[in-house]
Amino acid sequence: MSKDRNLQNAVPELRLAYNAILDKYNSKWISRFYSLNIDYVTRTAKEQKVLFMLGRSYCDGYKKKSKHQIGKAIDIFFTGKKGRAIWSGKPLDFVRYPRVSLAYWIFGGIAKNHGLTWGGSWNMRDYGHIQI
Ligand SMILES: [Zn+2]
Repeated sequence: MSKDRNLQNAVPELRLAYNAILDKYNSKWISRFYSLNIDYVTRTAKEQKVLFMLGRSYCDGYKKKSKHQIGKAIDIFFTGKKGRAIWSGKPLDFVRYPRVSLAYWIFGGIAKNHGLTWGGSWNMRDYGHIQI
């Protein structure tokens, strides 16, 4: 099963917000180093369950649904200058990874300014996650 990365599958309100966030992000200097990409849009209950079992989410997909299951959440990731994906387990480690941490921080701030919830504010930090 491959990840749904199609923005068209997000609800219209989130689609518009994401495009505005992307524009704003691209106006920041950090975007010259890290490009914003969509990693995941919608998810089936089954896919959600797998993430739950891996300890990556509180939502099991059945009793507790994720906003991804209804098109109200998007996960992002960054790519570097040469297009290489940056998958950092600790993206907000400002000491070891100052620049990419800053990229996540800026992204989260922009998302919040657009009225979205940013997973970086949660107890189970999810820096690449935004939802409405
Ligand atoms: Zn997510």
